Order: sequence, then C-alpha cells, then structure tokens
Amino acid sequence: MNSPAKICAVITEETVDTAIATIKRANREADMIELRLDYLRDFDFTKVEHLRILFDEIALPTIITCRAVDEGGKQYVADEIRLNLLVEGAKRFAAYCDVEAAHYEQAAKLSPDISKLIVSYHNFNETPANLSEIYEQITKFPASIHKIATRANSINDTLLTFHLLEGAQKTNRQLIAISMNEAGVITRLLGCSRGSFLTYGSLAEGRESAPGQFSCEDLRNLFRLHQITCDTAITGIIGNPVLHSASPAIHNRAFAALGLDFIYLPLEVVEVPDFFKRFVQPNTREMDWKLHGFSVTIPHKVAVLPLLDELDATAEKIGAVNTVVLQDQRLIGYNTDVDGAMQPLEKICSLADKHCAVIGAGGAARAVIYGLLARGAQVTVYTRDVNRARTLAENFAIELLPMDSLVQSAAEILINTTPIGMHGHSEGENVVPVAALKNCGVVYDLVYTPLETQLLKDAKARGMQTISGLDMLVAQAGLQFELWTAQKPNLTSMRSAALEAIRQ
Ligand code: NAP
Repeated sequence: MNSPAKICAVITEETVDTAIATIKRANREADMIELRLDYLRDFDFTKVEHLRILFDEIALPTIITCRAVDEGGKQYVADEIRLNLLVEGAKRFAAYCDVEAAHYEQAAKLSPDISKLIVSYHNFNETPANLSEIYEQITKFPASIHKIATRANSINDTLLTFHLLEGAQKTNRQLIAISMNEAGVITRLLGCSRGSFLTYGSLAEGRESAPGQFSCEDLRNLFRLHQITCDTAITGIIGNPVLHSASPAIHNRAFAALGLDFIYLPLEVVEVPDFFKRFVQPNTREMDWKLHGFSVTIPHKVAVLPLLDELDATAEKIGAVNTVVLQDQRLIGYNTDVDGAMQPLEKICSLADKHCAVIGAGGAARAVIYGLLARGAQVTVYTRDVNRARTLAENFAIELLPMDSLVQSAAEILINTTPIGMHGHSEGENVVPVAALKNCGVVYDLVYTPLETQLLKDAKARGMQTISGLDMLVAQAGLQFELWTAQKPNLTSMRSAALEAIRQ
C-alpha cells in the first residue's frame, strides 16, 4: 500500500528569474511547492499581482510563505505588507499561505480563506518539553493545516514530534510536524507515513531552507518516500556523526533493487543506552516502528555490547559490534567487518601461512587481525605507539613492532587500517615508506575516500595488486543486508550506490 506522502520542494532563490528556473525543476521532482518569497531580492512585496509571473510557471499545488525575520525570514518585510501578500496571494494564486501563529490575529483581520491557511510554529533552538501544549494553543486558530517545526537537539526530541502526529491522526487534523537538524531527520523520512501532511525537500545542495532537509531527489529515489508506510521494515545506522555516511545510499539502493519494503535511516545517536530504551528495546520503546536492526558505527561499536541479549562468536571475540539484529524480541550483535574485510582479499589469494603486515591497532585493525588469524595467516602489527597496542597484541598473541621498522618487513600482504591518506585527514600522504613495499604482492587500504589513496597509487606503480576500502565497505554491508532480510543483495548496485555517495 502506498502512503499519501507529499514531497514539497522549497524554492529558496534570490531572484525571480532563478526562481522560475527552479520551479520548472520542482514541477518534475516534487508533489507540491513552497515559495519562500522572503528569499527573493527583486520582488515587489506590495503587489500581489507580481506573483503571477511565478505562478505562470507552477504546475503543482503551492504554498506561499514570507517569513518574519524573527521566525527565520531572510529579509525584513513589514508585517502588514507580507501578511496582505500571503492572504491575498492565496485567494488569487496559491493553494495555501503559511502564516506564523504569532501573527495569526493580524492576518485574521484580512479575512483569509481558512481553507487555504497554514498556521505555523517554529523553534530554531529546541523542542520545548511542552510541545503538546503549544500544539493545543496553535490548533485553536482556525486553519486548514497546522505546522510545528522545532529543532531536535537529540533524537529523543523526535518522539515529541511523532507523538503530535499520532494525536493529529486520531482527531483528523491536518498537521505538518518536523524535527529540524541532523538529530531530527527521521521525522522528515517517516513523518508522512505517520500522518504528516507533507515533508519538505530542497532542489540543490546548499539551497535547503532548514537544517537536516534532504533533496527532493533523495526523498523520492533513495528513501522511496512514497512507498513508506507504518508497515515498512526499519533499519538504519546509529553513530555520531552519521549524515555523511554512504550506508543509507548502499542499503536503500539494495532494498529497492529487490523491491523490499525496507528503509535504512541515518540515526544520529549520542546516548546509546537512552536510545536503546526509548527506540529499540521491544518492551520499553516509545517509537512505534517495525525495527529489524541497524548498523553501528563510531563511536558506539563497543558501547552497545552490554545492551544486547546475545553476541555472535565473532563479535564476542573482537569485543565490538557493527550490526544489530532484532529477532523474536531479542537483540543480537554481529560483526560483519571481519568477513567484510576478508572477502576482497580471499577473492585474490589464499591467506593460509601468508605473512601479513597490519598497520594500526584500532577497531578496524582488530577485525582484520581476527579475520587473518582465523584463516591461518601470520600477522605482525605496526603502530606508532607500541605501548598503547600491547594489550591487543597479547590478546591475539601476535608480533607487535613500531611503525618505523616497516621498511624491514618481509610481508607479502600489507593492510593499512589507519586513517592516513584519507580525504579531510591526510590525503596524499602514504602511511608506508615506499621501500617497505618491496616484498608485497598485495596492498590493501581500508580507507575509501579517496578511492585510490597514495598508498594504493604507489603500490600500483610498482606492479602490486591493490584493494580499496570500498570493497570492504560493500562486502560488510552485503553481510548486514543478509542478516536483516535473509536475502542476498545485489552487490553491484550496492557498489555503484557507494561510489555515487562517495563522489558527491
Ligand atoms: P580507530 O579505532 O580510531 O583506529 C585508528 C588507528 O589508526 C589507531 O591504531 C591509531 O593509532 C592509528 N592512527 C591514527 N592516526 C595515525 C597517524 N597519524 N599515524 C599512525 N597511526 C595513526 O579507527 P578505526 O575504526 O579502526 O578506523 C580506521 C580507518 O579504517 C578509518 O580510516 C576508517 O574509515 C577505515 N575503515 C574502513 C572500513 C571499510 O569498510 N572500508 C571499515 C572500518 C574502518 P593510535 O592508537 O596510536 O591513535
């Protein structure tokens, strides 16, 4: 069953000409349009007729909005001028005008068409604990639709927003309810399936009208907003930060390729125990959703351990979980980084008795070392701080050497598990002195931005086989997908989704 979700493209252009060009795109990409008139620098706000030039291009139901500066407006327009433009503009051109609750009484004196009125409340600082009271107050103002948009400072704040939507559905009220900010993005993705009248989308990067807003294209094609219902199976990634992650692109593309009614959400989580209590644990959670499981990323891979009912043997041995599966009301932790890291290597060589040099001794190194040892390889770890890595070396009973002794290494396979060479960290640097590559047949870099790090470039130039971190990223995601859906994903479409996400 399709949900009646509506994607509303927000036009945030500064000139009438660019607004017209953008409206043409919105006509193709969205279900509705919001014209943010307060962004326009060459518009005569005193003349309602001036809207005609924009509406001549519009093919969708449209909301006109001209925000007061203290409600997020981009320029000062006297209240009597902007409210007249909105009320009269709705009567003559638009499907709706959006008037702030704080200005309702002034707008009411202009005899608005109530069937075209949206009354809105915004809070750009927080989601007040008394949001329900605020909702009760603003719904006293007669209008077709009420809107509440507040900043989520934690994912917990979204519960208040979903609670409003539930109440509005029960009383047959039309409500737009959104939690702004990264922590609130799930309301933008799931809100319509829980009764929100619409969700807003941007038409270009940098043109978002509020923090956390997705593009119309991602809402439609990546998250498949029109297919989401209350029955859609929920997966996602918990971490902090998560919005940069390629995983939503990878998994959502794979769900779509198999026509599965699943969605994968970016879940910015700071307090893990609190998140488990309020969103995850079947007997305590307040969120009404069909949660199937989620990925776990930095910094929570260890913090989730005590919150789970069961660990698989690999996750237990490594002491880190990157995948949680909710099965028969039980939470089970897995670590797909191990097999995900090994699959690309095993495709090109057998690992038994191979001499492997692992650079770095962090979380990813643990997964790599465990995987290599389980396959019979001989492992030496090289780190910048031998003392810090001593416990790891003892746990796995492997040789530990300082980084500068790499040049004497006789390893046949070299694996970088440090972030050195990564975009935004130390792009262009090679973690390994080129002389250290002399004996290697295979060089593997877990870093995947850029796709070809300096280490891989140098190795390739010496005729060695190279593996990019992208291969591990896709392989570990494929294994997660199988755990949640019991189906094999299309790894080719996962890979191309990852590539597109990384190149953005
Ligand atoms: P982590 O737990 O923070 O470990 C990082 C390791 O790198 C630590 O041993 C750290 O040494 C070392 N290191 C950091 N900066 C260094 C420097 N300038 N010189 C020498 N050593 C340095 O991080 P992680 O989770 O293991 O991730 C490490 C890398 O792997 C990241 O780039 C991550 O993106 C990548 N990764 C990729 C995949 C994939 O699917 N392709 C999966 C997981 C991770 P100290 O202990 O001395 O600080």
